[in-house]
Amino acid sequence: MEIEPRIGTGFDAHKLVAGRPLILGGVEVPSERGADGHSDADVACHALIDAIFGALADGDIGAHFPDTDPRFKDISSLQLLEAAADSVRQRDYRIASADITILLETPKVAPYRGAMREAMARVMLCDVGRIGVKATTTEGLGFTGRGEGVAAQAVVLLMPAQGNGAR
Ligand code: MG
Repeated sequence: MEIEPRIGTGFDAHKLVAGRPLILGGVEVPSERGADGHSDADVACHALIDAIFGALADGDIGAHFPDTDPRFKDISSLQLLEAAADSVRQRDYRIASADITILLETPKVAPYRGAMREAMARVMLCDVGRIGVKATTTEGLGFTGRGEGVAAQAVVLLMPAQGNGAR
């Protein structure tokens, strides 16, 4: 059988503002400011969703979940990630691995990394060992360094689902 992996990358950024929760990878991280946006503005989930649609060569997050649609107002991005992962299964693929890097000056997100991996793995119906979450500051440089925003990038590898049934 010919094995045809598919790979995709994603990037997202949102402005940090007062009066919004900071949701990253489906987990609320205590912070004086949170990400502004139509949904919960979870950059980690959004970057991963775009990586998934990229791997499927099926548009992007904006095409699937338009920010003009009231159905997606303040929605948990875990629900959007769940739908994206469902598209993977409909195409007879599975998530072999996903890796996310969060770019944020403050607060530190390392204590929440495990919870993020578990939250995203749960909705994607895959093993938590297939999802990596990393975080970095940008050493004071750029919009993330100045604390104006939070960003994330992601890469995902999809493999054909048939065969070993691996989660
Ligand atoms: Mg976004």
